[in-house]
Amino acid sequence: MDACPPHRPHNIFFDKKGKVTADMSTHSKIPSGLGARRDRTVQEYEHDTYKLKGKLKEPTVCTECGALFHNGRWTWNQKPADADEITCPACLRIRDKYAKGFLTLSGSFLTEHKEEIMGVVHNTEAKEKTEHPLSRIMGYEQQAAALMISTTDTHLPRRIGEALHHAYQGELKVHYDEGEEFIRVAWKR
Ligand SMILES: [Zn+2]
Repeated sequence: MDACPPHRPHNIFFDKKGKVTADMSTHSKIPSGLGARRDRTVQEYEHDTYKLKGKLKEPTVCTECGALFHNGRWTWNQKPADADEITCPACLRIRDKYAKGFLTLSGSFLTEHKEEIMGVVHNTEAKEKTEHPLSRIMGYEQQAAALMISTTDTHLPRRIGEALHHAYQGELKVHYDEGEEFIRVAWKR
């Protein structure tokens, strides 16, 4: 069941020269196993479960990954002795296999330069995660010639896509679902 928004979501398309044009393509299919549950019930569940900001006491630490919520944001700072304990939204999403973003990599250049490209993917994630503890890669799934990467937030797929586009050009597509609650990014070369 695809929860299609009543209005056209804004899509961004970068052509081979890096020019931005509109993307009028329909929704790409999300593979099962990477958190394909996108029906309305799950969306409501998501609002309750993953949006902890504003409800959290400060400081609060995630018992899974050690991320600390303090002064209104998540950091990797040392936890104070009196910190509350929870499981952070990123760890909950990883546990539930419920992604907030997808990045699809494809093309013959990818196949030929996989190691290099994966280096850019991992470095970009490491850099983002240092500053934004809830920004993480959840999983990888090889689908024929394409590699699907699922993430815990909506920023990471775009950051990685832009890093790849910057380093190797190619085609970059960015698609946000209604309300920017979910992102699909595709890079192809
Ligand atoms: Zn955590």
